[in-house]
Amino acid sequence: MVDMPPELRLQLVAAGVDHVDAVWVTHLHADHVHGADDLRIFRFRARKDMPVFCPEGSHHELLRRFPYIFDDAINPPPGSTIPQFRLYGYKGFEPQTIFGRTFLPLPTPHGPATVYGFRVGRLGYITDAKSLPPPTLEALEGVEILVLNALWLGNPHPTHFNVEEAVEAAQEVGADRTFLTHMTHEVGHQQLLDVLPPGVEPAYDGLTVEIPED
Ligand SMILES: [Zn+2]
Ligand SMILES: [Zn+2]
Repeated sequence: MVDMPPELRLQLVAAGVDHVDAVWVTHLHADHVHGADDLRIFRFRARKDMPVFCPEGSHHELLRRFPYIFDDAINPPPGSTIPQFRLYGYKGFEPQTIFGRTFLPLPTPHGPATVYGFRVGRLGYITDAKSLPPPTLEALEGVEILVLNALWLGNPHPTHFNVEEAVEAAQEVGADRTFLTHMTHEVGHQQLLDVLPPGVEPAYDGLTVEIPED
């Protein structure tokens, strides 16, 4: 699963997801991590720690925000449990093996922050980007499916792509299919279908895509 947004439980119920193996955290903005509590049930059912991959150095901030989850010093009374996530720090361009698949962390600028998408097989996943720096662009070469953030049409935002910028970035990557995510309610699904070029589509809740192997 990518990120743990605040409405996570509602999304998982709607999508019929009853199992999560691991979580990739792209960055620590509230809209990407403040649903962490909703993962507790998966760890509880599986009776093992939930692996959470996050940018190296972010452990301290996660601990500050969620001490009851990430503070190893907190021991629950016998018979009760805490979420018990196991944190793994990753660095840009250093591959991580997660359940036999290789994930390559791809840093992109997000205003003053850095956000880490990834490449796995022929899928590229980039969120909250404002630009795609050359090394990240290079690492995305040959992806067939690209997931990319876009906020709305026009009115450039200081830290996120608008739709026009996202389309430009998508064309630079050149994937067969690019799915736009992280949209606001300023744009409608049909409105985007009407203006997007071939190969770029708005994603939607419940969309499923097969990830091509490398
Ligand atoms: Zn963000
Ligand atoms: Zn965001």
